[in-house]
Amino acid sequence: MKDIREKTKDTQCVHSSLIADDTGTVITPIYQTSTFSFRNADHGASLFAGKEKGYIYTRIGNPTIESVEQSVAILEGGYGGVGCGSGMAALHLAFGSILHSGDHVICSESVYGPVVGLLKEQFGNFGVTVSFVDTSDIKAVEDSVKPQTKLIHIETPGNPTMAVTDIAAISKIAHANGAKLTVDNTFMSPILQRPFEFGADLVIHSMTKFINGHADVVAGMVVAKDEESFRHLRRMSNAFGGTIDPFNSFLVARGIKTLSLRVKHQSKSAVKVAEFLDSHPKVERVMYPGLKSHPQHDIHKKQAEGPGALISFELKGGIAAGKLLMDSLHLCVLAVSLGGVETLIQHPAAMTHASMQPEIRKQAGITDGLVRISVGIEDVGEIIADLKQGLEKI
Ligand SMILES: *Cc1c(COP(=O)(O)O)cnc(C)c1O
Repeated sequence: MKDIREKTKDTQCVHSSLIADDTGTVITPIYQTSTFSFRNADHGASLFAGKEKGYIYTRIGNPTIESVEQSVAILEGGYGGVGCGSGMAALHLAFGSILHSGDHVICSESVYGPVVGLLKEQFGNFGVTVSFVDTSDIKAVEDSVKPQTKLIHIETPGNPTMAVTDIAAISKIAHANGAKLTVDNTFMSPILQRPFEFGADLVIHSMTKFINGHADVVAGMVVAKDEESFRHLRRMSNAFGGTIDPFNSFLVARGIKTLSLRVKHQSKSAVKVAEFLDSHPKVERVMYPGLKSHPQHDIHKKQAEGPGALISFELKGGIAAGKLLMDSLHLCVLAVSLGGVETLIQHPAAMTHASMQPEIRKQAGITDGLVRISVGIEDVGEIIADLKQGLEKI
């Protein structure tokens, strides 16, 4: 579609993924092929030399993969995207495209659990050091910058405490110190938040979550702001090899068609669920950027178009109460992951963040009784009724 970049997110979701061939296809087909034949020797040589646009080999490029890369890049307002086999592969690619031996990283302490190991252990093996910092505290970030700091990685809202980081303020600190800013935008999706507008250099998604939205694919994406960093990412992705495949790309592109509808609906329902939890006598506190009580409510409002579908809450009665609640629910599904059409509920200290060292976990505010819920598209009255009967069992 002409001028797709000027259209609203609703329209972009429906029309941004088409890579047209000469059949008049409305949907980008699944090009389930590992390789592409050349017309002749000169054609092959010119494709390899980059003199002509075309396809060579699926790790390097494939129309179905390109369809989802193009779609997410348009939604985020970036130059181009590189599809990855998972969100973790996308984070590995993003960090690997920036970091060298001896570099220092500042990372949100409230972050997707396995990112801690990726930076500390895996990149640590190559001489990279990392400081986990409360990035909602600007002063704490400034104080953590070292001459070797080359990357600040943030998640906002952060996983699972929902701490919000001021993207524009952190991007200023990064750029004033010659570092890059990467933002994991999985929780918000480009429908609610577009980090490039606030100075991010790379935006990362676990497309397993909202972008695909149907709990049937594991995939990731790195979006680059400009052509130069996109070319660099593509070269790195060819070397690392953690690319997405055509079939999963097709499923994700299909999921994106309803991304805007889903996220707006889920965010609206989550406000109601958060208000219900907030007023319940068995709930100690609710962490949700849509509530006025959230410490960074105003910053979130400034940089995002909605509070999103994720809520964390602390039960009175800690770990035992949490277990009882989860075992008493009938509609909410007890499972990790998030952002799908079904409401999922989980217990971070025992599940998603179990791989974090207990002291880092505590420092990050992930208490033993914390429960995280990802509100789905079911009837919100029925979601609340399920939580209500579960809370009554405590
Ligand atoms: C799930 C998730 C990831 C990892 O994505 P995978 O697709 O599971 O590899 C990274 N960041 C956030 C915020 C996530 O929720």
